Amino acid sequence: MTGGYKNRVLRVDLTNRKFSEEPLSKELINGYIGGRGFGAKLLYDELKPGIDPLGEDNEMIFIAGPLAGTNAQSFSRYKVFFKSPLTGGYFKSSSGGQFGAELKFTGFDMIIIKGKADKPVFLWVHDGKYELRDAEYLWGLDCDDTHALIRQELGDTNAKIACIGPAGEHGVKYAGIFSERRACGRGGGGTVMGDKNLKAIALRGREKVDLADKDAFAAAVKEQVAGYKANPQFATFSQNGTWIAEAINAMGMYPTKNFQEGVVPEWEKLESNEYLKLLVRKTRCYSCMVHCGSIAKIATGRYAGSWTEGPEYETIWAFSGPVRHSDIGLTIAADKLCDDLGMDTISTGGSIGFAYELYDRGIITKADTGGLELTYGNSEPVMEMIRKIAYREDIGDVLAEGTREAARRIGKGAEEYAIQVKGLELPAYDPRGAKSHGLNLLTANIGADHNTGYAPQEIFGAPVPREVDRLAAEGKGELTKWNQDSTAFLETGILCSFMPSMGMVSPETYGKLISAATGIKDFADPDLLWKIGEKITNLERMFNVREGFGRKDDSFPRRLKEESVPEGPSAGSVFEEDAMLDDYYKERGWDVKTGIPTKEKLEELGLGFTMK
Ligand code: SF4
Repeated sequence: MTGGYKNRVLRVDLTNRKFSEEPLSKELINGYIGGRGFGAKLLYDELKPGIDPLGEDNEMIFIAGPLAGTNAQSFSRYKVFFKSPLTGGYFKSSSGGQFGAELKFTGFDMIIIKGKADKPVFLWVHDGKYELRDAEYLWGLDCDDTHALIRQELGDTNAKIACIGPAGEHGVKYAGIFSERRACGRGGGGTVMGDKNLKAIALRGREKVDLADKDAFAAAVKEQVAGYKANPQFATFSQNGTWIAEAINAMGMYPTKNFQEGVVPEWEKLESNEYLKLLVRKTRCYSCMVHCGSIAKIATGRYAGSWTEGPEYETIWAFSGPVRHSDIGLTIAADKLCDDLGMDTISTGGSIGFAYELYDRGIITKADTGGLELTYGNSEPVMEMIRKIAYREDIGDVLAEGTREAARRIGKGAEEYAIQVKGLELPAYDPRGAKSHGLNLLTANIGADHNTGYAPQEIFGAPVPREVDRLAAEGKGELTKWNQDSTAFLETGILCSFMPSMGMVSPETYGKLISAATGIKDFADPDLLWKIGEKITNLERMFNVREGFGRKDDSFPRRLKEESVPEGPSAGSVFEEDAMLDDYYKERGWDVKTGIPTKEKLEELGLGFTMK
């Protein structure tokens, strides 16, 4: 028995209301370390190709990493893995808060859920025991009320809960899973939970996480803490979190009017200093000295009294850029509403921005919107649009499918304006203004996800592994691979996805932490960590290849490839998709024509089994 792991997996079959337990296999631990590695391997092994994401055969794998619940910093997040109803491919979604550590305290490394309950239930896991409880009385409730009533039923105000809201119940394809105010937001994890009639998972445990070498682990944590304090971005990130709207506008890559422009008018109203004025208190995830979270409350204006945890940068953008309006109150109120209803803010904002452009071009009218005037600069309809999507009313019904499918159903040329990759809406960065950042959005296995391979070299000027010109295409294949693979091995821990983008944890420090915790000396070797990062990315890719994905799916909408940014510091830039993809595939050792890993690459990584 090694440290770090609880060596215990809980399986739940909702259809038959059966539970089983099993230990972690040595092959899984040695080959994949944990977290994202476990998720990629299990999802590949356990899901049959071609299954319906909304059906009994899809699984939801909730995983806490081997460092969760320890005092290693920023490692107590959890991840959920599933086949996405939004993209039709492999998906990973992650969240901070307290839920990941609590999973370890219950005595489990992961919970694997399959099947479908015949009526709403919630799963209660406590001190190594488990049961399904009735959740019919919770169906229809928002996330806040669901948290409160489950705690009341359990008589435990400290139970940690992850649940869905009305959006997940109504099959909105980008419904998320919400724990406190933190979310596994992207890709439709909440949709899959809703389909399974699983309203929530509640956890409570008191087990400690053992460490193989306590002294070595304490020394590694000390090194990590010193590294955080010495990082030039630590103090600012700790104070402001992801409030970086001014920086992205200053680079002219703040997607505005559905990626038609790169600067939103009056962006100064969305500066970090403006959010600091609304700060009520700071928050943090389990064992994280960064405490980047904030509770912000707006006191004046249309949204007076609204409060939220955040909003994160992506959410600030989602409710400003797409509608070309800078209303700080709306960013807070809309974030809270999405959290309550249980929806991903990025896809929600992207879908609303898509609807604004269709309205602007006359493809949809007031007859479709239930009378709402979706004119640029008019942000008033946004709150109502969020509700319409969550409850599938009027145009909200089709927008709930995500922009790719909505465009297909609407027709009339709407496909041109669906700004997505693999069905996942683009986040708050115009790829034309940061080419490696864009190349990651293009090639990330889950679709347009910024956290799969964030490019801090381009966004923050981080000089590791080297300084770059953000607008240049050359050399970005190699850099994108570097960012994606380093993120992948750090997410075996599971490290917070903000840390790679801040360059806060080196491979050497991670190696010391993970080897001291688990007692597996090989994990201290940075070369092995890099190899496992590459292996994970390739395995995720092969899941998608099995589903029919290839180069054709690594594709931006025409606008980003053929129309240049019209003005500002990124003016004149287009995304050179073909040349950059060629470069990236070559760096990865993938077939350039198809975008599929070669036999040699798969064998080199120990993934020969994916060629069957
Ligand atoms: S950096 Fe922020 S989001 Fe990440 S673990 Fe720490 S408090 Fe949580």
